Amino acid sequence: MSFQITPIPAFNDNYIWVIDNGQLAVVVDPGVAAHVDQFLSAKQLHLHSILITHHHWDHVNGVESLQQQHACPVYAPADERIPGQCTVVQEGSLVELTELGLQFQVLETPGHTLTHVCYVNQDWLFCGDTLFSMGCGRMFEGKPNQFNHSLNKIKSLPDDLKVFCTHEYTLSNLQFARHLEPDNADIAAFEAQIQASRQANQPSLPSQLGLEKQLNPFLRTDQAELRQAVAQIQGSAITDEVTCFAHIRALKDQF
Ligand SMILES: [Zn+2]
Repeated sequence: MSFQITPIPAFNDNYIWVIDNGQLAVVVDPGVAAHVDQFLSAKQLHLHSILITHHHWDHVNGVESLQQQHACPVYAPADERIPGQCTVVQEGSLVELTELGLQFQVLETPGHTLTHVCYVNQDWLFCGDTLFSMGCGRMFEGKPNQFNHSLNKIKSLPDDLKVFCTHEYTLSNLQFARHLEPDNADIAAFEAQIQASRQANQPSLPSQLGLEKQLNPFLRTDQAELRQAVAQIQGSAITDEVTCFAHIRALKDQF
C-alpha cells in the first residue's frame, strides 16, 4: 500500500502530520480540529485514528472535537491531561492499524514531558517534541539523564528512518548548532540548504535520522569534537554524555 504523509501547518510553527492511503487517514497530534477537518474534506478522507505523543495543548486541543465527529480511536500515553477517550499506550505497545496495513511500535521518551511517547515503524518516526531537526524539545518536566536516555533510544533506530517532528524549528536550531561549532562545515552546508528551502516556503521536514545522528548536537553528546566545543564555552571539561546534554540544553534555552 502506498501512503502520503502531509504536514498541515498550525499556529506559528506546528505541523499536524496526516498519513493517508487515499481513503483512510491517521492524524498525529491534532492541536486544532478545523484545519484537519478542512484537509480531510478536501481530500475526501475518512479519519481512521489519532496518535498523540504528549499532552501539550498545541498537540491535543483538536482531539475531542475530532473524536466526537469521527468516532475514531485515539492512541495516547497514560496522562489525565490528554483529553478524549484514549487507548493507552506504553513502552513496547504495538498500535495495529489493520485496515491501513500499518503497525507502530511505541517508545517512551521522557524529557520534554514525563509521559511523552514516540511512534515508529520500519520507515517513519513520529517523535512529537522529543527530537527536532537539529535540536530537541525544551526540558519542561524531565531531568537531563532521562532526556539523554530517551535520545539514545532514538539514536539506536536505523539511519534511513524519516523523522516527522512537530515544529518548524530547523533553521533556528542550525543557528545554535553553528554557534556551538562555528568550524563545522557540514552544519554550515546544511544550514544553507535549509535556508533555501525555507525561502521557497518548503517545510524542512521530514528529516532523516542518519543526518540527525551526524549533525544534531543533542544526538552527539558522546563525541569529542562537540564536547570540546561546549567545554570551551562553559570553561570546564566535559567527560560524560549527561553533563554534555545538560550544558547544551541550558545554552540553547538562553540562545
Ligand atoms: Zn510540547
